[in-house]
Amino acid sequence: MTSVATPPRRPSARVDAVADPAVDRILALAAAEDVLSFAGGVPDAGLFDAAGIRTAFDEVLAADPRRALQYSTTAGDPALRDFLARRLTDRALPTDADQLLITNGAQQALQVVATTLLEPGDVVLVEEPCYLAALQCFRLAGARIVPVPCDDSGPDLAALHDLAAQEQPKLCYVVPDFQNPTGRSLTREQRGALAAAAARWGFWIVEDNPYGDLRYRGEPEPPVAAFPGAEDRTLSVGSLSKVLAPGMRLGWLRTPPGEKAFATVKQIADLHTSTLVQAAAARYLADHPLEAHLSRVRAAYGARRDAMLRALPGALPEGSAWTDPDGGMFVWVRFPDGHDTTALLPHAVASGVAYVPGAPFFAGKPDPTTLRLSFVTHEPRAIAEGVHRLGSAVHAFGRD
Ligand code: PMP
Repeated sequence: MTSVATPPRRPSARVDAVADPAVDRILALAAAEDVLSFAGGVPDAGLFDAAGIRTAFDEVLAADPRRALQYSTTAGDPALRDFLARRLTDRALPTDADQLLITNGAQQALQVVATTLLEPGDVVLVEEPCYLAALQCFRLAGARIVPVPCDDSGPDLAALHDLAAQEQPKLCYVVPDFQNPTGRSLTREQRGALAAAAARWGFWIVEDNPYGDLRYRGEPEPPVAAFPGAEDRTLSVGSLSKVLAPGMRLGWLRTPPGEKAFATVKQIADLHTSTLVQAAAARYLADHPLEAHLSRVRAAYGARRDAMLRALPGALPEGSAWTDPDGGMFVWVRFPDGHDTTALLPHAVASGVAYVPGAPFFAGKPDPTTLRLSFVTHEPRAIAEGVHRLGSAVHAFGRD
């Protein structure tokens, strides 16, 4: 008997269009052993409070295993939401626990926002360059992404206004503190202007702030959601990945009061975030002062940021420029014209150092001379060595 096999149909064109090998490449590079990787935004696992988190899991399972192992509500663990609402309120963003939806990391919050708000063809304004996986999320939803021109101090406010008027965007996505990939933060004036533009032109603001707690110098600005005009149109995304541990996959979405559609989409995606993990996080946060943990993390990462900024001037070609972030994980570098960081990458890896080329972070025309360096993964001495290797690679192979 013969049978004719027909190959299965292709994935949707939208998935094909967002399947970006850059993300896989970043993860693979970060894993290679003899390479000092500045590629992934990967927290230092040595700073996780593994013992404290383990105790919290034990306690939750001992105290109430039937609850900890059961299905739970889509909105999330009440104690965790209360904790986060108080913390946001203390940080200039008065928040009721009912406004919070616990998600599987900030990444899922972005996915929920995109699915809830976007029709194919809707316009999304983004900073240029922009967090890569947010671009993918909006593209998967079929959005047309329009970059707002940015210079070293962030978005050009006149251009933002003109684009909002011309393009009638559905939403504008920003990372206000220590942005991925540039390390740049929005000024108070930029925050106020964005809020005012959103109110004037009727678009949503998506304020994604996973790095705000990692500040090494200076004072925080209020969140965009706290500026006049933004209250009823800002979706604030947060995460415990950079402050506790990314493997817990805990993030949140803060919506204006009374918005129900986002929870519906989250429910369709996965019913709810793990009951056990949320309960353990709530227990951990109740038993341990988060500020004490954060000050250890900040001290370590701040010293690493300084080590990178000390090493760069002596290593990079003359005419290179880089950001000087007040916090977060990233320094954004621009080599002189004529360099191409994508072409340089294999040579850099052969020299024992990895980074992420800047090109995939651009929604518009990529600047091939740019790259992103993460400074949090290695100790200062290894950072100095890695920057030295990068300098040798770029001097040897930088321009063809
Ligand atoms: N937003 C930004 C700007 C990020 O840099 C990241 C992590 N790289 C995320 C969201 C996703 O974080 P999470 O681990 O909470 O999903």
